[in-house]
Amino acid sequence: MKISFESRATQQQQAAVQNLIEQRGGRIVTEYSEEQRHLGIIAPQEAELLDAALLMPGVAAGQLIKAAARFASTEFKSTPSAVPVGSDAIGGDAFVVMAGPCSVESTEQMRLSAEAVAGAGAKLLRGGAFKPRTSPYDFQGMGEAGLLIMREAADEFGLGVVTEVMAAEDVALVAAYADLVQVGARNMQNFSLLKALGPCGKPILLKRGLSASIQELLMAAEYLVAHGSPGVVLCERGIRTFETATRNTCDISAVPVLAERTHFPVVVDPSHAAGKRSLVPALSKAAVAAGAAGLIIEAHPDPDRSVSDAAQTLSLETFGSLMKVLEPYVRLRDEERAQMGVATLA
Ligand code: PEP
Ligand code: MN
Repeated sequence: MKISFESRATQQQQAAVQNLIEQRGGRIVTEYSEEQRHLGIIAPQEAELLDAALLMPGVAAGQLIKAAARFASTEFKSTPSAVPVGSDAIGGDAFVVMAGPCSVESTEQMRLSAEAVAGAGAKLLRGGAFKPRTSPYDFQGMGEAGLLIMREAADEFGLGVVTEVMAAEDVALVAAYADLVQVGARNMQNFSLLKALGPCGKPILLKRGLSASIQELLMAAEYLVAHGSPGVVLCERGIRTFETATRNTCDISAVPVLAERTHFPVVVDPSHAAGKRSLVPALSKAAVAAGAAGLIIEAHPDPDRSVSDAAQTLSLETFGSLMKVLEPYVRLRDEERAQMGVATLA
């Protein structure tokens, strides 16, 4: 359920409502402030608690929430959320691009990548230090040494860090280095991992599972919110279909569908969707046009020698050219936002 305070509600009035919630065995799961303060609450007898709360001074409105993904839903918060990520925000006015290699391989590789992607306008450096590989004999990632390399490269060029965590026991370690902690497609429904990530203090990049429905993606986001996450960025990265021409099928519809159902921003990963570098520019343009808040793209100083995902990885030069190609598309997006307002987008 949701309770909204009057904008003039006093601290005492708000504290009294919080007491009532606790007395009834409820808890405040999340909250946001936009002129007024709004609480997202879970309680055993919500209808009764709502009736009691609505009689209290300082309470402006309240409602039960029907959506299964309660606090991720637009029913709870109808305005799009900008998720703070390091010194930037995803889902705000700026279109945010994250780029870098699939895997962290060396200091030199990450420095070259960071310099180039920052120069081209990316805001976050990507790279995996813990890699979910199909074969146990493939490169598994550099672990903490990779996180350190990545953080230093990102700091040198003023970038944030987005990197994957695969196991609950590594959450504190990865959260210490990352500005945005990635949950990979293969772990989207690893509920123990989601529960461990909620309280880690960092926002989460939640990638859609290989065979996950949009609703399942939203429920995974709800796990994060229910466990205290400060913000979630959803990522469409392609799903398994009968089509073999691409590694995955980029479900571009997910972008506008999610915009209707959740206040959290949605980014697109054209690299893992396509599986083939020649297709990345077209999918990137489609993502901007569909209303995505940003992109996450694989780029490497020597893409053919990339230890993972070489076929879909752009050279740093091609990444730079793509960023130029995207400029007029992003400008059009910005104009549309300015004219029509954010809420009508996508
Ligand atoms: C990745 O980002 O390198 C990755 C493994 O992505 P996904 O989980 O979407 O396959
Ligand atoms: Mn990859």
